[in-house]
Amino acid sequence: MTRSVLRFVKHRITQQPGTDVTFAAECMACEWKVKPSADGAAVDIDCMSHTGRTGHPEFRRTCTSFAMVTRVGTEAASAR
Ligand SMILES: [Zn+2]
Repeated sequence: MTRSVLRFVKHRITQQPGTDVTFAAECMACEWKVKPSADGAAVDIDCMSHTGRTGHPEFRRTCTSFAMVTRVGTEAASAR
């Protein structure tokens, strides 16, 4: 008979230190893309300006962030 010992370790997921959430958008009707920015409102304004110039109303918006998983209680050791 084989015995197993199961251990559960708590983990936490957080945004990577020193990184920003970035927003981007691309038009669904042409090749136009907005320059990715940490300022989501600026990206939205660029999209509305594109619609004003072209009449293209649909965009694919993406929001990117970088995550980091650490074991609870070892955050300081893993950050070194
Ligand atoms: Zn367009």
